[in-house]
Amino acid sequence: SQMEPVIIVLFGASGDLSARKVIPALYNLHLDGLLPQQYAIVGVARSSLTEETLRERFRQGVDQYSRRGPAKEQEWDAFAEHLHYIQSNYDEPTLYDRLTKLGDTGWETPPNIVFYLATPPNLFTIVIDQLGRFSELQGDIRYRIVIEKPFGHDLHSAKALNQRLLQVFEEKQIYRIDHYLGKETVQNILAFRFGNAMWEPVWNRNFIDHVQITVSEKIGIGRRGQYYDSAGALRDMIQNHLMQLLCLIAMEAPTEFTADQIRNKKVDVMHAIRAINKADVPAFAVRGQYGQGWMDGQPVQAYRCEKDVDINSNTETFAALKLFVDNWRWQGVPFYLRTGKCMPGRVSEISLQFRPVPHHPFAHLNTQVFQPNRLVLQIEPNEGVVLRTQAKEPGMGMKLKPVDMSYCYQDVFHQASPDAYETLLVDIMRNDPGLFMRADQVEAAWSVIDPILEVWSENTELNFPNYQAGQWGPPEAESLVAQDRRTWLLPISFEPKRGG
Ligand code: NAP
Repeated sequence: SQMEPVIIVLFGASGDLSARKVIPALYNLHLDGLLPQQYAIVGVARSSLTEETLRERFRQGVDQYSRRGPAKEQEWDAFAEHLHYIQSNYDEPTLYDRLTKLGDTGWETPPNIVFYLATPPNLFTIVIDQLGRFSELQGDIRYRIVIEKPFGHDLHSAKALNQRLLQVFEEKQIYRIDHYLGKETVQNILAFRFGNAMWEPVWNRNFIDHVQITVSEKIGIGRRGQYYDSAGALRDMIQNHLMQLLCLIAMEAPTEFTADQIRNKKVDVMHAIRAINKADVPAFAVRGQYGQGWMDGQPVQAYRCEKDVDINSNTETFAALKLFVDNWRWQGVPFYLRTGKCMPGRVSEISLQFRPVPHHPFAHLNTQVFQPNRLVLQIEPNEGVVLRTQAKEPGMGMKLKPVDMSYCYQDVFHQASPDAYETLLVDIMRNDPGLFMRADQVEAAWSVIDPILEVWSENTELNFPNYQAGQWGPPEAESLVAQDRRTWLLPISFEPKRGG
């Protein structure tokens, strides 16, 4: 369908996210013909850049980070014509007089205007307040606002930010990004669950023993020390990405695939998560921080020695949680979540571990301990689905061996997946907020982790660092599951290839 013209106002255009994610995504949409005929991208920042130097910067971003590799001269030039720059302070009233008039283009169809806040979060309210001077924006769906993470620092600040936003815009105009939700394989969780009849009967406490969600990063914090040291793994990853994955696994089926239906079902899960009392925090949440170690044969320095990090920092670079979803479907089934930096590799995996067989008829025949069935949704790096079953190993006697039934995205689908930001930008332009966080979802997620944040900030007697760079987190993480007689499962992509 013909897309309506759009003007994207990119606040913080001189920054990392703009060059690394937003512009490469827009460029790919341009190449794929997914931008409207008429569009403009207006960068706003304080840096003294000319239109030319901004375009050059963006081009470098595309060359380095676009999934298609370096831009081609002519294609880039056609795109670059649409890029503009306004140098300004973010609290400068005349800037906003100008921005709110951008719609007077003389284009046949007046453009939608998207205010994209790719700035540090302390600027969010400054921009919102300025936009608040224009009451005509409120409720007019031609105007949309995009907010990057982190959305608040805790429940209180998230509520305050929602309040400010909702004084200026209506919920339908607000797009809170959790870029994880734009990933193809994250969306595939819904297709997998609700496009196939065979999972539903077993997708519950009667068949599933527990769920593990691992999102590990190999990298440390790079140049993002200042932000990260005030955030930590719980805020940076669990409050948003891992909680959303949990919701997708635990939610009930929507009757219709519409934005609010899906978000309603997801927020139901969040409300059903058993609150963790402050006294129980140690039994349900574990934190860690990496010390020096080795990765790929190279020494890695301790977190506390990273640039822009306090030498005595108690910020966690690893967090693991045990959560329960108190409803009929999931009563008693633990959801174990873990995430960390400087782990052995970059993996996002969800493992549903089924209950063991009720009786082992083969037990006396071989000594092998056999694994219960396990369904693994692999989000990164090898996107796909694996169902682990037991099979008879060829040969005399009855010897069982785990065998995987699996499909890998790139083997089945030959077209390239769009980057998450491409998907999200198209949805913003098409006015579909399904993959974005609604106010109540954000607040519900903060409610779950707020008590943990509180306890952790009170207790600063820590044995940090408590894991070496290159390990799967601290020993306490193992205890978290061991107390339930379980272990963390090695992500499937880490298992040594099993030969025939
Ligand atoms: P950034 O590079 O640090 O900042 C973006 C721009 O904001 C800067 O170029 C700077 O432009 C302006 N700015 C204004 N006041 C600033 C201040 N006190 N300190 C630093 N910059 C200031 O941020 P970013 O990494 O692009 O991230 C933008 C937003 O996206 C943040 O909310 C971040 O949390 C979120 N995010 C980033 C990533 C990522 O990978 N980078 C990923 C997910 C989410 P001028 O000085 O020219 O005005």
